[in-house]
Amino acid sequence: MVSAPSVLVVGGGPAGSTAARLLAARGARVTLLEARRLPRAKLCGGGLTPKAQRLVPESALATVERRVDTVELRGGRVPPYRLTRPDAAVAMVRREAFDLALVEAAARSGVDVRDGVPVRDAGEDDDGVWVLTDGERLRADLLVAADGEPSRIAGRIGLASRPALSGLGLEVDAAVSSAVPEDTAVVSFTVRGGYAWYFPKRGHASLGAASARPLRAHALHQILTRFAATLGLGVESGRVRGHWIPIGLRTGPVAGRRVVLVGDAAATTDPLFGEGISYALHSAGLAAAAAAEWMAGEAPDLRAYDTRLRASLGPAFARLRWVARAVDRSPSVALLLIRASEAARESVVDVVAGRRAPFVLGGV
Ligand SMILES: Cc1cc2nc3c(=O)[nH]c(=O)nc-3n(C[C@H](O)[C@H](O)[C@H](O)COP(=O)(O)OP(=O)(O)OC[C@H]3O[C@@H](n4cnc5c(N)ncnc54)[C@H](O)[C@@H]3O)c2cc1C
Repeated sequence: MVSAPSVLVVGGGPAGSTAARLLAARGARVTLLEARRLPRAKLCGGGLTPKAQRLVPESALATVERRVDTVELRGGRVPPYRLTRPDAAVAMVRREAFDLALVEAAARSGVDVRDGVPVRDAGEDDDGVWVLTDGERLRADLLVAADGEPSRIAGRIGLASRPALSGLGLEVDAAVSSAVPEDTAVVSFTVRGGYAWYFPKRGHASLGAASARPLRAHALHQILTRFAATLGLGVESGRVRGHWIPIGLRTGPVAGRRVVLVGDAAATTDPLFGEGISYALHSAGLAAAAAAEWMAGEAPDLRAYDTRLRASLGPAFARLRWVARAVDRSPSVALLLIRASEAARESVVDVVAGRRAPFVLGGV
């Protein structure tokens, strides 16, 4: 009897666990290797747009702590504007719980999940792929690198290239603010090249600031502190943490013959909001589809994934990059436009909810 094709997935974030689950469901023997012990924390606002919510199993949605249907938009010299749209409600999660639920869903689909196993090296040869952990060399037919930012595996398998843009994000777990109503998030375009956010959850909140400009962490920290003060919150420096955000897709290939990069490893975060989870899930779906075609003998390698990822996310990211530049030039004009124009508000919902092309995601 011919055994099922085997796949190694490196990284147990949303991209890796989703690719693993989908591949196991398509009959592959999948091993997922996660460097850290699970559950593990991940620096993130934990905001899941409807685009992301549609791409995860119910068990992951059970970890949602709060649904926020109102966002207070701030920026420039105009008064804040509160936009309420239940059809674009953002679900707030703690990443340790959400990511664990996704890994557990993968395990239920038959994935062999091994946590606390950092992959030190990886490669592709004529017979397939291999990875090296601290104690073992594992072989398989295919490799999915989902090791986030920075993706060391991308470098090892010859797919290292710069992301189109790089952002720096600072985040801290804060108290819930009494300065805004309960189910209201705040997005403040008072940061050059980015924004500051307040995402309320159950009994705590994510407070952060991110920018794609070459701002120093110290300057971003000061912006975050001032933003926190407007919400009646304080920021102790020791608790603020930072991470790079790889934006707008890698400039070089994200697939080889038997290897693919998914999620942050492929730089699938968007250039306006720095939203990464939905696009990471989408890339996992496309990677699983390309792998399934290879497994069925319908494709000679996994390279079609690169073309499809760029075709599906390229137009969305180009449009969001244009909007980000416009908002950066004049946040006041952007806010006035949203306040005055129903069409502008509908465009915001199109992006957040993924209602209309090019923001419709699928493939999972
Ligand atoms: C401050 C900040 C706020 C953000 N807020 C939001 C938000 O509110 N909403 C949103 O949609 N996106 C947000 N993002 C982006 C989002 O966090 C990422 O896009 C998302 O986590 C990408 O998922 P991933 O699975 O590709 O990578 P990750 O979630 O980073 O997972 C990668 C996994 O790989 C593991 N790993 C790494 N190296 C190895 C190795 N050698 N061997 C084995 N395992 C390895 C890591 O331990 C990790 O578990 C934010 C990002 C930042 C920095």
